[in-house]
This record gives sequence, structure tokens and C-alpha cells, in this order.
Amino acid sequence: MPKQNRTFEVYMVYVDEERCDGCEECRHYCPCDVFDIFHKAVAARPRSCLGCRTCEAVCKSKAVIITEI
Ligand code: SF4
Ligand code: SF4
Repeated sequence: MPKQNRTFEVYMVYVDEERCDGCEECRHYCPCDVFDIFHKAVAARPRSCLGCRTCEAVCKSKAVIITEI
């Protein structure tokens, strides 16, 4: 569907496993319960993402990247 015809945004939630140390800050602060932690963060429910970018802000390892698609 062309982006300009959507009434909602879709976001890609990417976790760089090399950078992630599993600190759980993203899971703790995400308002939409996007992340699970299995030693590293996993974007288990990316469709729930609202694009607030809180996870990017709290990740001291810069392991999370949110991209609007
Ligand atoms: S906040 Fe960053 S380092 Fe911590 S678990 Fe999430 S992605 Fe990994
Ligand atoms: S951008 Fe916001 S809603 Fe999306 S995964 Fe990060 S903290 Fe959760």
C-alpha cells in the first residue's frame, strides 16, 4: 500500500545483537510491550510499535534502531 494512502505508520524495530547487552531497559520503558529478552533484546511484537523512540533513547549501547517504513 502506498505510504501516502495509509492512516497509520508502520515501524521496523531493529536490534543489533552485537551491541545489545541484555540490560532490559528497552523492555522496561517501551509503552507497547514490543520487546522480549532472551539474554538479548528481541523485537517480538514489532507491529505494536508506535514509533515513540523511547527505546532508542534509553539504550546506552545504541543497539535499537527504529525506522518508519
Ligand atoms: S536497552 Fe539496548 S542494550 Fe538494553 S536490552 Fe534493550 S537493546 Fe539491549
Ligand atoms: S519506538 Fe516506542 S513503542 Fe516502538 S519499540 Fe521503541 S519504545 Fe516501544
